[in-house]
Amino acid sequence: MNLVEIKNLGKIYHTINSEIIALKDISFDIEKNKFIAIVGPSGCGKSTILKILCGLEDKSYGKINKEKNLKFGFMFQQDTLFEWLTIMDNCLLGAKINKCLNNDTINHCINLLKAYGLYEFKDNYPNELSGGMRQRVALIRTLILNPDVLLLDEPFSALDYQNRLKISNDVYEILKKENKTTVMVTHDVSEAVSMADTIIVLSNRPAEIVNIYKIDYDKESPIKNRLKKEFNEYCNKIWGDLNVI
Ligand code: ADP
Ligand code: MG
Repeated sequence: MNLVEIKNLGKIYHTINSEIIALKDISFDIEKNKFIAIVGPSGCGKSTILKILCGLEDKSYGKINKEKNLKFGFMFQQDTLFEWLTIMDNCLLGAKINKCLNNDTINHCINLLKAYGLYEFKDNYPNELSGGMRQRVALIRTLILNPDVLLLDEPFSALDYQNRLKISNDVYEILKKENKTTVMVTHDVSEAVSMADTIIVLSNRPAEIVNIYKIDYDKESPIKNRLKKEFNEYCNKIWGDLNVI
């Protein structure tokens, strides 16, 4: 079942003395419970796609058919936690802003914090947590609003390489357990291949779709997937698409 169908999406940014064509004829579907990764060079228009999907930017042309009342959750590259709020208060902030803070959301929050190893830090402040823990808090804060589709914009790029592997593994497990439909943007091909069901490869700006891959092999966790022979095959194909090799 498709939650969203994107047809011939285009975006032109207008600045005072120029126009920047960011997206050109982008078409793809977002299928329920699937994990889509969008890969492409820096500045090609990846974030623009996510921003248009959740209404932070207007499209210039094309069509986006969404299921009625579809809710998007957005997680940014930086965890954007508020340093002066405790972990619990950071997690509940979105619920507060949306005026849906009640016993159910508080219990949901407590359960997520417990499930993902953060409950004992609920009264701590963000600067007392590691980068990976902060990223998990940011994810919980987004999950509390029960989004139907999670949009992740380069969610691990602020982390060092080893943490990045571990956190991508943790986040992936959380998303699978919570049955979330996900669209993740990344410039890291190997990250995309280790996590996604479908990969959309974009060209340099203006972003056009170069290829769409169904990542179809006996998948396990993102870290274990990296050890499989198919992993390298997909990476090589995509690096070829991006003219890296
Ligand atoms: P990516 O996420 O792939 O790095 P973006 O979607 O952020 O790329 O940006 C694509 C292009 O559009 C870039 O050249 C960027 O400078 C330009 N751009 C993004 N946002 C704006 C904006 N608000 N106004 C003008 N140009 C923009
Ligand atoms: Mg971006």
